[in-house]
Amino acid sequence: MKFATKALHAGVEPDPTTGAIMTPIYQTSTFVQASPGNHKGYAYARGKNPTRNQLEKNIAALENAKYGLCFSSGMGAADAVIKLLRPGDEVITGDDLYGGTYRMFTKVFAHYGIKFHFINLADANNISKYISEKTKLIWVETPTNPTMQIVDIQACSAIAKKHGCTLAVDNTFASPYLQNPMELGADIVMHSVTKYLGGHSDVIMGALCMNDDKLYEQLAFIHNSCGATPGPMDSFLVLRGIKTLHLRMERHCFNGRKVAEFLKSHPKVDKVYWPGFTDHPNHEIAKKQMRDFGGMISFDIKSRKKEDAFKIASSVKVFSLAESLGGVESLINHPATMTHASVPAKERARVGVTDSLLRLSVGVEDIDDLLEDLKQALG
Ligand SMILES: *Cc1c(COP(=O)(O)O)cnc(C)c1O
Repeated sequence: MKFATKALHAGVEPDPTTGAIMTPIYQTSTFVQASPGNHKGYAYARGKNPTRNQLEKNIAALENAKYGLCFSSGMGAADAVIKLLRPGDEVITGDDLYGGTYRMFTKVFAHYGIKFHFINLADANNISKYISEKTKLIWVETPTNPTMQIVDIQACSAIAKKHGCTLAVDNTFASPYLQNPMELGADIVMHSVTKYLGGHSDVIMGALCMNDDKLYEQLAFIHNSCGATPGPMDSFLVLRGIKTLHLRMERHCFNGRKVAEFLKSHPKVDKVYWPGFTDHPNHEIAKKQMRDFGGMISFDIKSRKKEDAFKIASSVKVFSLAESLGGVESLINHPATMTHASVPAKERARVGVTDSLLRLSVGVEDIDDLLEDLKQALG
């Protein structure tokens, strides 16, 4: 089945009791058993719920994976992956991570005796300098947030396989429409479903996909034991959102390109971070592993003044000033004070998250209105 057909139909069956074409919201915590242990596969909704189950199958299909697990947030999904580790284990990851992931690694799991190496993954060969027997996990985000670096997933996978460690890819920014890390050798694909998969800024959810039976068993055990599972209403909303993922992504990519080109030619704009530019340092890798380049763009202004960035962020009228991304509506964000406030200033400076950097999540509005809005805000 092709992507658009899977988005609508994969994992979704008409309701067996009524024939309802749309998956019902099974708003129940428990299921009646005919005799002890004699049930229809559903016992208690933390473990399994029919609405969530169809969503898990659907997301797995979009990632060409055998298994999917949905979590109550993206962080809940990432948390479960780190719980595969033991004290003394080491993780190699990027130095340009989603702020919340960086915070969880450094402020929560570092206290459990797990060591994290934050390195520049734009050149995957850097991994070899930090890898040892203690390395159990390589955690990759690509494109990165907010500077849109591209990490070569296939190259990371080759190193991970050589050293017998697990490769997990946070595929939130690309969405399964643009990139399928399992096909490039990833063992685990993680999503903040909150973003493009949900697509309407009305749900917080996360997901993991995997092919390996043992890895699935371990993660499903953590999922049920630790309990960061989403409710049926949210699962329904995401199933509904995914039905238009391919249509939304097409428009995000179209609008994204127009906005990136507009910014690049604007006299007040300095650097524009977007992997679709042929002069992006890893454009060739982006072309190889992504189907298109998406609607996430960051840019820095020539004046390098925080006040000027603030002025732009508060003068937009069609874009809204808010954290998050991937919804139908366009958003603008000031990473240094918003999404990346939990990353220390020194770390931020090192990866180019200056006080004048702005990040856009380009939505699916009419492109003329978006360009007009940016034009007036830049002044
Ligand atoms: C938002 C986000 C997360 C965290 O997901 P939540 O659903 O907010 O918990 C993780 N990684 C990336 C790249 C994100 O954008």
